Amino acid sequence: MKYIDEYRDRGVAKALSEKIWAVSKRRIRLMEICGTHTMAIFRHGIRSLLPKHIELVSGPGCPVCVTAMEEIDRAVKLAQMPGVMVTTFGDMLRVPGSSSSLKNEQAKGAMVRMVYSTVDALKLATDNPDREVVFLGIGFETTAPTVAAAIRTAHERGQRNFSVLSAHKLLPPAMDALLSGGDLAIDGFICPGHVTTIIGTSSYESVAAHYHIPCVVTGFEPVDILEGVLMLVEQVEEGRAAVQIQYGRGAGPKGNTAALRLMDEVFEPCDSPWRGLGVIPRSGLAIRKRYSRHDARVRFDISVPQASEPAGCRCAEILRGVARPVDCRLFRKVCTPRTPVGPCMVSSEGTCAAYFKYHDDEED
Ligand code: SF4
Repeated sequence: MKYIDEYRDRGVAKALSEKIWAVSKRRIRLMEICGTHTMAIFRHGIRSLLPKHIELVSGPGCPVCVTAMEEIDRAVKLAQMPGVMVTTFGDMLRVPGSSSSLKNEQAKGAMVRMVYSTVDALKLATDNPDREVVFLGIGFETTAPTVAAAIRTAHERGQRNFSVLSAHKLLPPAMDALLSGGDLAIDGFICPGHVTTIIGTSSYESVAAHYHIPCVVTGFEPVDILEGVLMLVEQVEEGRAAVQIQYGRGAGPKGNTAALRLMDEVFEPCDSPWRGLGVIPRSGLAIRKRYSRHDARVRFDISVPQASEPAGCRCAEILRGVARPVDCRLFRKVCTPRTPVGPCMVSSEGTCAAYFKYHDDEED
């Protein structure tokens, strides 16, 4: 299959691995800031193709994992309201909030529906005119344009019973927050190809320049990831810190201007709470006043008490790249994909789920 097979070619992957071994001299830590990369790295056994002195650490790139507990609590509160139907993507149903989850509320009889897209949520609103249908919008710049499109469509149709609880996140401010925190020692970012298709590579220039950290925008197949690692290794060895594109078939400097325009029309940047990182200035997306009829925060009273993380769960540190799942005493014992304690085990892109599925603890 064109655009897949060539990026899974064993011979090309082997040659890239050998080149990395030849070029890399220093001990380095590279952070992948996308849950899709985390899963791909484990699934394709990328770590086993690298020298031991190259460490790959996962960052805050899983949209389910970084959604703050208070946002889950708000969604649960909505689900408990009579006449409200909460819709969202599958993994969000199982993420535990302070006292319940959407899945629990569904089991108790609340109207909670899993959807595959905002189109499904809009259809539910059309099919259920006597219900208030709320979509819990999570995710980064890849999903935000589709949610913006749904809000605009509802607005144009006069669909009054559709609203969005926006918990969207923006990636570059999180990278800045990670580095400015001072407790993260990394030598380069493996940046996500799909997010960059929307925001453009220019979004990483200030991070690369200010912190002298190379950024390579990378695709998700094994050859992509190995080539991205090689580009980072070359930069580190040469003392450079530039933004480079490995994922040339998808990403460019400017991004998708139509998607960015739509996002800007519907959303405005806001300070946003991240699990593990606290409130990061201008790292979230609030719905603009013009579309407030479709803003669940305006339409409903969803104030909730401050939430605390589940006892013993180290998701917050894992999302900052300063702990690994195997450092958590609940990992594999109490916390498993069937009995998840924190979001990093719930999400199919979570680091704990990836470790559970693919990591050999004997390696540590
Ligand atoms: Fe949290 Fe479970 Fe991961 Fe531990 S193993 S950090 S409890 S999700």
